[in-house]
Amino acid sequence: MQGRFEKRGDVGIIWINNPPVNAISVGVRQAMIDGVAKLNADAEIKVGVLACEGRTFMAGADITEFGKPPMSPGFPEALAALEGSSKAIVAAIHGTALGGGLEAALACHYRVAIASAQVGLPEVKLGILPGAGGTQRLPRLIGIEAALNIIVSGDPVPAAQAAKVGVIDKIVDGDLLESAIAFAKDLVAKNAPARKIRDISIDTAKLPAGYFDEARKRIAKEKKNLFSPQRIVDCLEAAATLPFDQGLARERELFNQCQQNSQSKALQHVFFAERKAANIPNLDKSVKPREVKSVGIIGAGTMGGGIAMNFLNVGIPVTLLEVKADALERGVGVIRKNYENTASKGKMTLEQVEQRMALLKPTLSYDDLGQCDLIIEAVFETMAIKKEVFGKLDKIAKKGAILASNTSYLSIDEIAASTSRPQDVVGMHFFSPANVMKLCEVVRGEKTAQDVLMTALDTTKRIKKVGVVCGNQDGFIGNRMLGGYAYQANLCVLEGATPEQVDNVIRNFGMPMGPLQMSDLAGLDIGYKSRKDRDPASFDGRVTRSADLLVELGRLGQKTQAGYYDYAPGDRTPRPSSVTAEIIEKVSKEYGIARRKFSDEEILERCMLALMNTGCEVLREGIAYRASDIDVVYLYGYGFPAYRGGPMFWAEHEVGLKNALEKLKKYADGKWLKISPLLEKLVAEGKGFASIGQ
Ligand code: NAD
Repeated sequence: MQGRFEKRGDVGIIWINNPPVNAISVGVRQAMIDGVAKLNADAEIKVGVLACEGRTFMAGADITEFGKPPMSPGFPEALAALEGSSKAIVAAIHGTALGGGLEAALACHYRVAIASAQVGLPEVKLGILPGAGGTQRLPRLIGIEAALNIIVSGDPVPAAQAAKVGVIDKIVDGDLLESAIAFAKDLVAKNAPARKIRDISIDTAKLPAGYFDEARKRIAKEKKNLFSPQRIVDCLEAAATLPFDQGLARERELFNQCQQNSQSKALQHVFFAERKAANIPNLDKSVKPREVKSVGIIGAGTMGGGIAMNFLNVGIPVTLLEVKADALERGVGVIRKNYENTASKGKMTLEQVEQRMALLKPTLSYDDLGQCDLIIEAVFETMAIKKEVFGKLDKIAKKGAILASNTSYLSIDEIAASTSRPQDVVGMHFFSPANVMKLCEVVRGEKTAQDVLMTALDTTKRIKKVGVVCGNQDGFIGNRMLGGYAYQANLCVLEGATPEQVDNVIRNFGMPMGPLQMSDLAGLDIGYKSRKDRDPASFDGRVTRSADLLVELGRLGQKTQAGYYDYAPGDRTPRPSSVTAEIIEKVSKEYGIARRKFSDEEILERCMLALMNTGCEVLREGIAYRASDIDVVYLYGYGFPAYRGGPMFWAEHEVGLKNALEKLKKYADGKWLKISPLLEKLVAEGKGFASIGQ
């Protein structure tokens, strides 16, 4: 059993002990039931405390029991025992009381917490809802609106805020157990009852007319396309209108609906995929990360500034280097302005702005980078410049410093070769805006040392990003895959679809932006320039012809307020352009392509399955360790909708690999779209992506 009962005078303590996070295993559930029985059987004991050993209160369900047959006693039985105790029980909360942890605390009669504790019901993030009375007890305790906000956001609530809304009765200083015992004894002295939340009824007369319908509409906008937030509103309506036990039954029914919905499977996949990405396979057990206490960044442009902010935000000092004073001043100014904007929205104080800025040391001299533990280069995307920068770094960086490049496409091995220490060179590819986007591709060069790779990956976690290791190849994982996807989008346009139709289909699928809109954002001139340097046989000139003509007309995208779309000043909303439509028609004619009507379905299949097909190549070539890493790249770097699990998960579980292959065969031309041999192999062997990689 993962707990014990302790009698301290007239107080009974139900201890839970299931390291590391007191997950609510079958043993923990049994300990709660046994504890309540002992508490009530001993006539000398007047009151109880539910407390957890170790670093946290019960942090949630036991994930090792997921997918296994239910084990008795179940969680609802344990909660019924706690709540049914005739002697009051005080939950003593430290660390986090999340999900089942908070549900257990809510089944107690009172709650005290230390100031650093957090409570919350994060189930919505896994596509489900609190299934053990959370949706029925929380609104009874703190009211419908406050409960709805907590359950629909799924975010942890700091103790002070939780006390303000009434989840916690008292925040205690000093020793938690002693304070909880004092609180419990005070209850006895006051003859306070074992207050059961189930007995509280919600006064629906206080709710505005049509409250729940309004809430459904509001949440449909905020949590677009998501299934479980709507079911959460249903649960809260049940809490407001049904007796407690019927409300619990309704909660169970809605919980089951969420669990059967494909979104919960996708979101759970995302949860595990993100954790798996932190694992580097075949790593020598003795490898330890290097220490990173100070960071140097070269280039204070779009990316350098954003990357610097990530480190400043977590208190790591940054030395920021530029070639020219004006560029440096501009870069530092942008960082300050970003922080000040955040402060003006009330999301940080002016004092915090100054604290962060004080950690930033702007410089024009390489010597100032000499003592940095990690140096990240974010200068122009030109190999000659990168080599020059790394050559200089090689001369001034201290021994053991990690030298990273934020390059989007260039070879890390070639960059590393410009130093005498290629083992210390690694890619750290952030996504724009670098202070916002959560992804960082950590690029493993041929000679990158294991501890360097490990340090880079660990660093992404320290700055609250999700790191994914990838091999050194043109475009790494994310941008490489973008190629096939954008190709299909442009081909659809060439053959008869409009940019609006293509972008709408992709947005309706759940991506934040369509591919043509994305080109306008990045700037059509970037692709144009790179094509000028490339062998014309290496790309299909037909699908890039429209973009070339747009650029030649000065339509470079959002920055010129005209690209594929027209834009009004200061407005990023794309508006269909008659100039673009004419160009596209002209290009189709030029290549003798009869334009035809496209179904939305065809556009979606062509773009998304091409994306997955390149993903298969990335996997086959060992550029990604596992398919789930590819999903993580798309979720956090490109805004792929989490409720679809990522491009690989979506193709496997929503489309089916066999079906996906058949569809792709219709579009494959053997040149620009070649079917990945890995996909064919998996289908032939009846296997899934889980069988590949490590
Ligand atoms: P940018 O033009 O905004 O900034 C580059 C900065 O580097 C400029 O301020 C420039 O003055 C400075 N610089 C140039 N040469 C230098 C040198 N020798 N020493 C010191 N500073 C120098 O470019 P960016 O968009 O920030 O891109 C930087 C890098 O990040 C590129 O490799 C790019 O491919 C990569 N990247 C860009 C994006 C993006 O969306 N912009 C996304 C991911 C990665």
